[in-house]
Amino acid sequence: MPDSPSKTAVAVLGATGSIGTATMDVLRRLGDPWHAVGLSAHSRLSELRDLSLGSGVRYVAATCTETARDFDFGEFAGGAEVLIGPEALVRLAEDPAVDTVVAAVVGSAGLPSTLAAAKAGKRLALANKEALVVAGSLVTQASRLSGGEIIPIDSEHSAIFQALQTGRAQDVQRIILTASGGPFRTWSPSQMAQATVGDALAHPTWQMGRKITIDSATMMNKALEVIEARWLFDLPPEKIGVVIHPQSIIHSMVEFVDGSVIAQLSPPDMRLPIQYALTYPDRTGCPCPKMDWAQAVQLEWEPVDTEKFPALKLGWEVASRGGTCGAVVNAANEAAVALFLAGEIRFTEIVTGCRRILEVHNYDASPTLDELMRLDRWAREEITKWAAVC
Ligand code: NAD
Ligand code: MG
Repeated sequence: MPDSPSKTAVAVLGATGSIGTATMDVLRRLGDPWHAVGLSAHSRLSELRDLSLGSGVRYVAATCTETARDFDFGEFAGGAEVLIGPEALVRLAEDPAVDTVVAAVVGSAGLPSTLAAAKAGKRLALANKEALVVAGSLVTQASRLSGGEIIPIDSEHSAIFQALQTGRAQDVQRIILTASGGPFRTWSPSQMAQATVGDALAHPTWQMGRKITIDSATMMNKALEVIEARWLFDLPPEKIGVVIHPQSIIHSMVEFVDGSVIAQLSPPDMRLPIQYALTYPDRTGCPCPKMDWAQAVQLEWEPVDTEKFPALKLGWEVASRGGTCGAVVNAANEAAVALFLAGEIRFTEIVTGCRRILEVHNYDASPTLDELMRLDRWAREEITKWAAVC
């Protein structure tokens, strides 16, 4: 291990998060020659310090300048260089000592470093789906031009990436993303309008960061994943389907033209897709619980209800219109989720707000990166103004 070219020097961007800490666990289990070269955290700097101790990292990056100002970096692992500020992520992503960048920052804050890793020809182990939603065309093109590669960490896309290896691209009829349905699968629309932050954070099958947990409750997460799949697999939106599968064991499926469907199954644990993104095309021992075939388990699926979860329609619409739509919906959603978590808007207003901002924005079919970043700021301001009067 590994038989293929070495990708074993890893930068973990967003190391203190749900994906970041799972990645650190995977790296510990993989052992030598796998190692972290650099780690980043935004504001949980004591946790960053704990992760750095004994890891032998060369760099630690603290991206929130204000938090870093008051923090004593004296206790960090001996010899690690401390980088401060958001631009430190780009520095880590480009560093010649890094083979693989685990992009596990949440939100469009992860875009500059994801793009930098793609431009620098790295293996991009991609959890930060928002980077593809905002600038999928730029990120995938940069990776292609530099000879880099993008291996998805998102469990659905990892499943599809694996299933696609059983056939030829021209023989794919469609892909089917599975969705647990989140905590409100069986709630009525009027109950959902009254949902509290605690209700929305109670995900039935996955333990994740707060933002993606709220996205799962609105099903905006699945909308973002439709857009992510459009860019990762270069498929038109009409070839991307979604089905509700409450057990979260079938992680997604590829249907070929002959009607054969290839699925990937495993218990819901992100350490498996993370490890696969690191070691691909090699496979090694399971980092988490396996399927227990001695247990009786019922697997169910049902169609999605786009009237009850209107976020889903945004997914196909944005995937088909492209251009500036992804940046606008993503930023509106990030800001609306923050407002909901702060108790300032109701649960159902998250998606209403995103739809509204999408409709009033100035569409451009082929925006530059600067334009996308400007629209990201604009959409956040607009949603805040809208929330104040709605
Ligand atoms: P999280 O909130 O648990 O962790 C986020 C990480 O990003 C932390 O290390 C935090 O310090 C850092 N961060 C936050 N704001 C930042 C900023 N402004 N600048 C730089 N760094 C910042 O999130 P998560 O659940 O680990 O999700 C990370 C990404 O992975 C998201 O894009 C999410 O959609 C994707 N993802 C997560 C899961 C999961 O199971 N958690 C599954 C699939 C995809
Ligand atoms: Mg997912």
